[in-house]
Amino acid sequence: MHGLMPRRTAVPAKRLLALGIGLVLCFCAVCAAILREMAQKDYQHAREASTNLVASIASEIDRNIELYDLSLQAVADGVKLPEINSISPELRQVVLFDRAATAKDLGSILVLNPAGDVMLDSTTAVPRQANFAKHDFFRVHTRATMGLYISPPWVTPEGEYLISLSRRITNSDGSFAGVVAGSMRLSYFHNLFRKLNFGPSDSMALFNTDGAMLMRAPFDITKIGQSIKESQALKQFPARRSGSYVTKSVVDHVSRLYVFQQVGNHPLLIAEGLAIDGIYADWWQQFWLIGTLVAALGGFSIVLMFYLLAAVKRRAAAEDRLAHLASTDALTGLANRRRLDDTLDAEWRRGMRAKSPVSLLMIDVDHFKIFNDTYGHQAGDAVLATVGRCIATSTKRVTDLGARYGGEEFSVLLPGIGKAGALEVAEQIRTRLTAERGSDPQLPTISVGLACLVPDDERTSRDLIKAADLALYEAKREGRDRVVVGPIGWDKSGKRRVA
Ligand code: GH3
Ligand code: MG
Ligand code: MG
Repeated sequence: MHGLMPRRTAVPAKRLLALGIGLVLCFCAVCAAILREMAQKDYQHAREASTNLVASIASEIDRNIELYDLSLQAVADGVKLPEINSISPELRQVVLFDRAATAKDLGSILVLNPAGDVMLDSTTAVPRQANFAKHDFFRVHTRATMGLYISPPWVTPEGEYLISLSRRITNSDGSFAGVVAGSMRLSYFHNLFRKLNFGPSDSMALFNTDGAMLMRAPFDITKIGQSIKESQALKQFPARRSGSYVTKSVVDHVSRLYVFQQVGNHPLLIAEGLAIDGIYADWWQQFWLIGTLVAALGGFSIVLMFYLLAAVKRRAAAEDRLAHLASTDALTGLANRRRLDDTLDAEWRRGMRAKSPVSLLMIDVDHFKIFNDTYGHQAGDAVLATVGRCIATSTKRVTDLGARYGGEEFSVLLPGIGKAGALEVAEQIRTRLTAERGSDPQLPTISVGLACLVPDDERTSRDLIKAADLALYEAKREGRDRVVVGPIGWDKSGKRRVA
């Protein structure tokens, strides 16, 4: 505990831990970035696929409406021909109504006069008696000249769901001459949607720009005609004719990615909704797989790191123990000769720099050989341990160093202590041993040689040892059980003198 203790092996545990955890976190961050990229790609792929699907369905519907509209236009132009009323009803049927208008999902084409009465019917030479003056598709044309009008969905008395497509018939002077109207069964859209493959929570909807639902997949009859005015597609339209957004459905409250597009130039919009859960279904699988692997690897790395750190710490502690053993005397627990030499050199250099004194005590047990011979070596060892204890308890400063010099000789290094202070320590050691003798009268005494030098260029630490040795020799010569302060010399007559 005194003097230059061997330096403890420092294990930079915190830094190693931070480095290891940092590495694991970097690894996690890289995996998170890869997963994020994968999620973004899945989203983009879904949106692209949906955009393509919506575009192809819109163009299919647009093509059919165009064809039907061409038929309506042909009728609107045809009825204005002056000869049309003079030919037979059968021939008129052939001239006015082509076969395009007889496709499965298209209803009959009617020509209505300005009062709304049916004048001609594509399906029969003798038209039925009916008036459509109150119908939206008729009234809209009485008010203004417009192109093709597509009506909201309506139900026939037979329970058929239709939308009407109509055009105004205009006289050459621009006046209203009636309406040509046809219908399209909503079952056409139903059949179109049925052919598509959807995920379980995906949806496809066709609605007009007034927000009325025309058809929806999955099919639900109650949803036909339902208002979806709150739909974001309608909020974006007409500023944007196509686009995409993510929202909760106003119909079934499922979160979806919606991709919408206008059908041609008609007031119809088609929108596909891809359930967000469906878009990321594969990604979640990969997430759990990669996430579990990363967590397992990260956990394993951290456990391994702690294990390695504990091993390094154990090894460092073992090295410290070894270093301590290598510098300690086993019998007395004091420093050994090696540590004394190292410390003495270091303190001598320090004393030289600071111009401060270095004191050294050399202690030798008196008549120890006889003691050993009388009481045995084990008792002798016990005496040495007692002397060691007396030395240890008398050297309290951090820089003091009590050491076993060899055999039954001890040294006490007292850096920065002058002669008076060193003498006090020496006397303390001797007095303590004397006190021990109170309970154990056979205990031998000790002789102490004290030397104190201020290090300079002309002397080395060996001179200090030599001086303390000389003082010890003098103490023996003067009768033992005493402290003699050196350095000492002798005059010519052989008398001792203190230098
Ligand atoms: P003096 O007062 O002149 O010092 O007499 P001394 O008998 O002590 O003389 P010397 O220094 O020659 O004797 C040293 C003896 O110390 C020799 C040996 O028996 C004993 N000794 C040395 N080391 C040990 C040790 O580790 N244990 C024991 N028990 N005895 C030791
Ligand atoms: Mg001796
Ligand atoms: Mg001796």
